[in-house]
Amino acid sequence: MNCPFCGYAEDKVVESRPARDGAAIRRRRECLRCNRRYTTFEQLENRLPAVVKKDNRREAFDRAKIVSSMEIACRKRPVPTALLRTTAEDIERTLMDGGEAEVASQEIGDLVLDALHAIDPVAFVRFASVYKEFEDTREFRDIVTFVDRRKAQKPIGGKTQG
Ligand SMILES: [Zn+2]
Repeated sequence: MNCPFCGYAEDKVVESRPARDGAAIRRRRECLRCNRRYTTFEQLENRLPAVVKKDNRREAFDRAKIVSSMEIACRKRPVPTALLRTTAEDIERTLMDGGEAEVASQEIGDLVLDALHAIDPVAFVRFASVYKEFEDTREFRDIVTFVDRRKAQKPIGGKTQG
């Protein structure tokens, strides 16, 4: 980094300490030419993308919000909250690994939908019906039929039917 005073490229670090609760390192540097001091911050680049809503507003990614929306979909279903927390963490990691600066809220919704599909069919349908805002009842019936068929093939929770 060039010295802000004289533009020289070389400096020495005179002091290093954690900043922003350990999320960054603050370095006090001294220019090797003009000997003036300045400060730099170093922090991880793989931060979470901003969430772009349907109306184009941006908001910070909120893992707790994902957990609570899944909790609502899983009400009275035999799904442990711990599983929902891990699922939300996985989604967060997926977004972080993606390295995008922005992600559409629909994309997050799809990730949640995928996860719920594997977790609980009823929760899946509940979430889909709210999130997908089905245009007509047929669309909704299709998804219910799809889930019913899947349930018939592979009973959830090891319970056998009939
Ligand atoms: Zn300088």
